[in-house]
Amino acid sequence: MVLWFVLGSFLPMVAAALIDLVLYLSLPDVGICYRCKAHHRDFEAVAGLASFDLERHEHYRFVKARAEGKVAPRPDTGGDAEHRSEGKEDP
Ligand SMILES: [Zn+2]
Repeated sequence: MVLWFVLGSFLPMVAAALIDLVLYLSLPDVGICYRCKAHHRDFEAVAGLASFDLERHEHYRFVKARAEGKVAPRPDTGGDAEHRSEGKEDP
């Protein structure tokens, strides 16, 4: 009884993995620009692109977040004037 309960709890995960496998095998490759997130489909050069690079993706995501002011500037640059004025006064 406990064994069937444990095995049954994995069924949704197995079903999701099978759906994922079917989609992976049936859908064509797509090229996605790291910088602007444009999707490029249905051209032959997509097959020649390098595979997804998580480090490069994170680099562009961080650069965009910094440009939008969502991330504090790097401490070694001293920050910009706006952030320096918000900081504490030096004693
Ligand atoms: Zn782009």
